[in-house]
Amino acid sequence: MVKLQSDVSVELVKHSASDSDVLWAARVSTAGEQSLEEIHKDPERSKGLINFLMRDRHGSPFEHNSMTFFISAPIFVFREFHRHRVWSYNEESGRYRELQPVFYVPGPDRKLVQEGRPGKYVFVDGTPEQHTLVSETMEESYRASYAAYQKMLEAGVAREVARAVLPVGLFSSMYATCNARALMHFLSLRTKDDRAVVPSFPQREIEMVAEKMEALWAGLMPLTHAAFNANGRVSP
Ligand SMILES: Cc1cc2nc3c(=O)[nH]c(=O)nc-3n(C[C@H](O)[C@H](O)[C@H](O)COP(=O)(O)OP(=O)(O)OC[C@H]3O[C@@H](n4cnc5c(N)ncnc54)[C@H](O)[C@@H]3O)c2cc1C
Repeated sequence: MVKLQSDVSVELVKHSASDSDVLWAARVSTAGEQSLEEIHKDPERSKGLINFLMRDRHGSPFEHNSMTFFISAPIFVFREFHRHRVWSYNEESGRYRELQPVFYVPGPDRKLVQEGRPGKYVFVDGTPEQHTLVSETMEESYRASYAAYQKMLEAGVAREVARAVLPVGLFSSMYATCNARALMHFLSLRTKDDRAVVPSFPQREIEMVAEKMEALWAGLMPLTHAAFNANGRVSP
């Protein structure tokens, strides 16, 4: 009855986002209403402007676009995600629907052991014994808590009350909408990348979500994405 999953999923369900959106927004400064002509212009020819805006942190031209993602990930990932306040969210409800028994277990590549002091630590591989312990312990705990949830539902207890026994490893789903500037800020904090001038140390599971989002965004706005990387992965 309990389904165990080690991966997260991200789908781009709706978008209006391209490199030319940055150009016409930026050029209104100098060209006024004529900047609208930029909408159909080949953005490749204005690559330098996108790079200049990124480098000098002229951020607002990167806001005239929109991307909506459908994300399926454990609740502990959403808890971190929702700290990003300039996004819009809608999540499935534990009050209005029965939550499905899909739970997170770390995959075999997930590093399991933390070494060093807070703020200066690294994660290293777990032993095969630790991997087995984690998988078995989580599964056992998930089965027990989902059985407790079902027992209360069957006795007529409201979903919003019974859900209290479910752990943060339970999968949830949500729509998350942002613009490119907000996404870059999110990526700067939720990915670990050698090109970043300000390194971040995100939890691996939210990084898995961030990596999938970044790949989808890079397909829509390749010049903006390249300028983000070339300028140290700092949101403008
Ligand atoms: C590695 C890591 C570890 C973390 N650990 C913890 C932790 O232990 N405990 C914890 O509570 N949180 C933790 N956080 C969350 C962190 O403190 C931020 O809440 C989160 O990263 C969102 O960042 P943000 O506020 O910049 O983003 P957003 O909310 O998306 O805001 C974007 C930008 O808008 C501006 N802004 C938004 N709201 C305001 C406001 N009210 N006032 C002024 N400016 C605003 C800021 O410039 C901000 O950078 C952690 C984050 C990371 C990446």
